[in-house]
Amino acid sequence: MARSRQGLRGLRVAVTGGAQGIGRSIAERLVAEGALVVIGDVQKDLADRTAEALGCTALALDVTDGVEFEGFLDQAGAALGGLDVLVNNAGIMPIGPFLEEDDRTTTRCVEIDLLGVLTGTKLAGRRFREQGHGHVVNVASALGTFASPNAATYCATKYAVVGLGEALRQEWHGSGVQVSTICPGFVRTELIAGMRPPAGTERLLMIDPEQVAASVVGALARGRSRTVSVPSHLVPSVKVFTLVPE
Ligand code: NAD
Repeated sequence: MARSRQGLRGLRVAVTGGAQGIGRSIAERLVAEGALVVIGDVQKDLADRTAEALGCTALALDVTDGVEFEGFLDQAGAALGGLDVLVNNAGIMPIGPFLEEDDRTTTRCVEIDLLGVLTGTKLAGRRFREQGHGHVVNVASALGTFASPNAATYCATKYAVVGLGEALRQEWHGSGVQVSTICPGFVRTELIAGMRPPAGTERLLMIDPEQVAASVVGALARGRSRTVSVPSHLVPSVKVFTLVPE
């Protein structure tokens, strides 16, 4: 069921990776819309400060730990009187040539960016199926829809998250449970602070995390499963770029 902007008031939302960056902006916008928000993050101290500033609740969460994730959803539900939305936003982005990437980094990226999203989607999806409604919003990336050199592992995880959303959109059709996938281009956050597009790609623009937050609010207001692009290019058809570590 679609919710009007007014209808986001009282919506009970958990946001992973909400201490900073896009997750913080999503939480901030949702609080402004009147939603009730819990953020979860491995950076608990920063999450506490963010929550205090935004007027929401912070909990410790490592999305790679399924037991902890289940406990996070329990605590978020207890704090908010139930849960309507999970935003799987937490992520990392290793940059550099794939063959030089150490195995620990590859594994960590898959654990956080893919397995963490699968775990959260499954745990929240079961709760939402039980209550007959709910919305899982997964923050993927433009690099889940087209590829870049120097980001192979990240692309692999984000393509998988887009595939997850497309599959569940069909599997959950008619169940009352929605899944939306947000695919932002370059966003000004800590995540890409140490990277730059190479010379000659000046057509690439950065967007602000608030624009991603607006697309999440739009997806929740529509209340229908969808994959949403939030492009950062001047020319939307520009599909290839190269990330370079500084
Ligand atoms: P960020 O580094 O600013 O914030 C990520 C947050 O996730 C941090 O607060 C971090 O502590 C948290 N986190 C990391 N590992 C975690 C874990 N195991 N458990 C719980 N929390 C954890 O990054 P961001 O730019 O805000 O990125 C947020 C999401 O948006 C990521 O999924 C990222 O892939 C995606 N994204 C970012 C961009 C961009 O250009 N910044 C573009 C497209 C998609």
